Amino acid sequence: MTAPITTPSEAEEFFAFLERLHGHRCPMSIMGARLGLAAASRVGRHRKGNDLKALYRHATCAIDGIMAALGTTPGNSNLEIRPEGLHVLEVENQAKNIFLRATLTEEALAFGKKYGEIKRAGGSREEREKVLEALEVMDEEKIVALEILP
Ligand SMILES: [Zn+2]
Repeated sequence: MTAPITTPSEAEEFFAFLERLHGHRCPMSIMGARLGLAAASRVGRHRKGNDLKALYRHATCAIDGIMAALGTTPGNSNLEIRPEGLHVLEVENQAKNIFLRATLTEEALAFGKKYGEIKRAGGSREEREKVLEALEVMDEEKIVALEILP
């Protein structure tokens, strides 16, 4: 299963799409996308012939990132959102009998906090953009903890 994004220009295009979908650039939408991309690179993106069911345990901007990356949506009834306050994405591919749990790491969430602090302190757009770009390119294992069953 290949990752859905393999080149810098594909990444640029993807994150531009996410901004159009979500309406703004923010840490949580990007972190949601990273969760969705990590899941999609293991179980594939949702499409005809690759049915996924996903659950996200937090009601945040991350939901739009997950939709953009994984292709599951509330409208398709294959992205359930439970406002439990946990940054955890669970994805099931029943046909392939794969269950995956992707959790944002403390390091990733620290970047989100840093972004908020810069914003509250009246930091420049450039300063905030640096944090967002770091989240886009950070190594997957630093941003997402994965458990895959079986
Ligand atoms: Zn947002």
